[in-house]
Formats: sequence, structure tokens, C-alpha cells
Amino acid sequence: MEYISTRGSAGALDFEGVTLAGLAPDGGLYVPRDYPRFSEAEIAAMRGLPYAELAVRVMLPFVTPSLSEDELRKLCQQAYGRFSHEAVTPLKQFDQQHWLLELFHGPTLAFKDVALQLLGGLFEHFLAKNHDHLTIVGATSGDTGSAAIDGVAGRDRIDIFMLHPKGRVSDVQRRQMTTVLSPNVHNIAIEGSFDDAQAMVKRMFNDAAIASSLGGRFRITAVNSINWARLMAQVVYYFAAALQLGAPERKVAFSVPTGNFGDVFAGYVASRMGLPIEQLIVATNVNDILHRALSSGDYSAGTVTETAAPSMDIQVSSNFERLLFDMGGRDGAAMAAQMRGFEASKAMQLTNAQREGASALFTSARCDADEMNRAMAWAKDHCGEVIDPHTAIGLHAARHAGIDPAVPVVTLATAHPAKFRDAVERATGQRPPLPARMGDLFEREESFTELPGDYDAVAAYVTSHATESA
Ligand SMILES: *Cc1c(COP(=O)(O)O)cnc(C)c1O
Repeated sequence: MEYISTRGSAGALDFEGVTLAGLAPDGGLYVPRDYPRFSEAEIAAMRGLPYAELAVRVMLPFVTPSLSEDELRKLCQQAYGRFSHEAVTPLKQFDQQHWLLELFHGPTLAFKDVALQLLGGLFEHFLAKNHDHLTIVGATSGDTGSAAIDGVAGRDRIDIFMLHPKGRVSDVQRRQMTTVLSPNVHNIAIEGSFDDAQAMVKRMFNDAAIASSLGGRFRITAVNSINWARLMAQVVYYFAAALQLGAPERKVAFSVPTGNFGDVFAGYVASRMGLPIEQLIVATNVNDILHRALSSGDYSAGTVTETAAPSMDIQVSSNFERLLFDMGGRDGAAMAAQMRGFEASKAMQLTNAQREGASALFTSARCDADEMNRAMAWAKDHCGEVIDPHTAIGLHAARHAGIDPAVPVVTLATAHPAKFRDAVERATGQRPPLPARMGDLFEREESFTELPGDYDAVAAYVTSHATESA
């Protein structure tokens, strides 16, 4: 498979190239040149496969020829062997129409593990082949950091530096990062907000002095969801759930708690590959730029409001560009112009083609704190399921989307409730315990470095520590 940029002027890359690259040099995002499509018979033949084997079938067209089928199989078995549930992403029932797809059985209890466990293996494989080294620098407000750290901890040829805003991530989230003691993991608590940390990371990406002092070792890459390999890995669980509910003979709808539009874009890819999806429900909290864009065409960033579902507290959804590119007829020059306008004014209007194209598959909903709390209470009182605040937003949207009762609706459970236990306890009166394998999280030794909110201090730390361990 070849990958092209949404902004039309970067050269095409193969799968190995896009995995290591992150953003395209023209500022765009990589997408496959075309979507592979399975026939009904091919989809029916996937029924009953173990998750890792289903992953091989779904992803093989995207990774060929950078990986052989056997190489892909080995990486999938390693990644999904680390999940604590044999089914990897088990499906549970709420009521006659509604289902819950549990994506949180990975090492850090959030759906991001599904992709980042595989991404760690992909990095290691390609770096070993090229005798290369990778330095990952990222900023996190919570889930991405711990999942990225767990995905690369202890792996050869990789250093990861993860910045978090000191005192502004939950205890569980901080400890999930700082108790990983592998020498290639460098946690940094910086003074300031998440946005300050993020701004430093962006500046570092363009810092020629760092690049020259680290030489070949400074291939920084993105571990956020603009990385194509992450989206690709997420396509698999849409197939897994739909097959269990009767696909390809029966259509299924999905409700997706959405922040950066990565997870729900994977659902769109599944649909393009032939999976019969009735509808994709984009569920947002009060940070509702995507709901406004999909319902009225107004894609304009406001200021971020903090909520009990922090992984969705986002005003600009990077992956939305991938959908707009497809809906606009894959015109890279037009996409580049539209995004230049957005970057200048933080606002843009979707074209009619983009709006109409998206409305064929997508619908959206905005959910406030009250509705979120009521969804958590409903799940517990009526189905005995304790769900996290992000999942609750998805469930609320699912139950109010007006989907034909004959169509099963799957809500994606993106985090384990214990990760957000204060909010869960407030809504349900029940404090979800950490799963047994994480029960000693608060006894484990922590290691992290505190740095001032000063770019030069952080840059100096990265240069000296990456060089040492390389
Ligand atoms: C990251 C995250 C989301 C949002 O996913 P996107 O791919 O950014 O849309 C939702 N819920 C949880 C718990 C997350 O960690």
C-alpha cells in the first residue's frame, strides 16, 4: 500500500515510511492511496477468528509489502497477548439494542493500548532492520502518555521522553507513567499547563540544534493519533464487534466518544473496507467542535472547558482533516488552502460536498455533565455495568440517536472506570477498584524528573539523556 498526504505536495510513502514519519512534510496527514475492499464472503470467513488472527486479515493489505504476513502475525500475537482478556476486546450487552465494546483490557486500561502496543512492536521491527534509533518526545494530559510509554518500555533503539504538567494529571494517570522504570523511559513533570508542555514539544520538533546534536538518533516521531498505524490497528475491533452481531448480513451502528477523531475515523475506514455500518455516532462532551461541524458545517475552535472526560477536552480534532479530504474529492491543493484558512483564523466552514458526504454515514451528539452522569447511573442501575465518563458520553449519544430498533448499536468503552473513579463514584455511588494486576500501583516506586517550564532546560535534558542511552 502507498500512502499520500491530505495536502497533496508531499511524496508518497510505503507503510514503513508512514509509521516512522508521523506528519507529512507538507503539514498534511497520510492516508492510503485507496481503501482495500473485502467481499461479503471474505468478511463472513473472518467470523470466529481469534483477535490476533482477525487483526492480520484486516491489516495485511495496509502493511504489504513493508511486512510479510508472518511478520505481521508475530507482532499482533505479541501486542494482543499482553491484554488481560482472552477476547482482547469483549462485547457485552446492555439491553435489546445496545452493546458495549470493552477496549480497556490492555496494560494501561484505555483503548489507546490496542494501537500503541502494536505501534511499539512496529517501531522496534523497522528500527532493527535499518539499524536506526528513534527518540520519541511527547506531551500528555493523561491516557496517551501512559499507553505510549507502556508500548515502548524496554524496547531496543527507542527512547521516550514524556512531558506531563506537574500536579495536573490524576494520581492513577501519573503513576501509570512514572512507575515504569525501564531505562529508555524518561518522565518529565514540568511546571505549567498541558498546552505549555505541548508547545515545547512542537518547538523541539523544529529545533535544528537538537537535531544536529543528536545526529541520526533524533528521528522524533508522533505517537499521537495522527500516526496512520494507530488508526489502522483500531479498524480491527469494528470488524470484531460487527462480526459477532451478524455482519456482513446485518448492519451495525457504533457510538464513539470522540476527541481527536482518531477512533471514529477507524470506523469510517472499516466501512470503506466493506463492513456494513449503518451509522457512526460522533459523541462529544461540551467541547463540541465536531458536533457543530457535522450538524451545521461550523468548524470553529472555542476555548477548552475542563470536564470529567478529559481525553475528550479538545477543540481541534487533527484527524478530521482525513475525512474532509475524502469528502472533498481528495483534492490536496484545496485541502491545503482550507487548512491554511483554518490555521489563520481558527475557524472554517465545511463545503456542501463535505457536509453531505459526511452525513451519509456520520451523525453527532453533544453531551453535558448531567447527561453523562445519568448515563453512568443508568448503566449501573439497569444493567449492572459500571462505565467511565468517556464511555457514558458515548452511551448517552447512542440511546438518543434514534437508530432503527432492528439495528444493534455498539458503544465503544474507551477507558476502564477505575481510571476515573472519582467521577464514577460521584455519579453512581460506587468506587470501581483497580483491576488485580494494577492493585499495587500505589505501592510501586516512582521515577520522574521535575523541570521548570523553560524550553532550554527541557531541551538540554532530552539531548543529554537520549545520547547517553543510545
Ligand atoms: C483518547 C481518548 C478518547 C478520544 O479518542 P480520539 O481517537 O482522540 O477521538 C476517548 N476516550 C478516552 C478514554 C481516551 O483516552
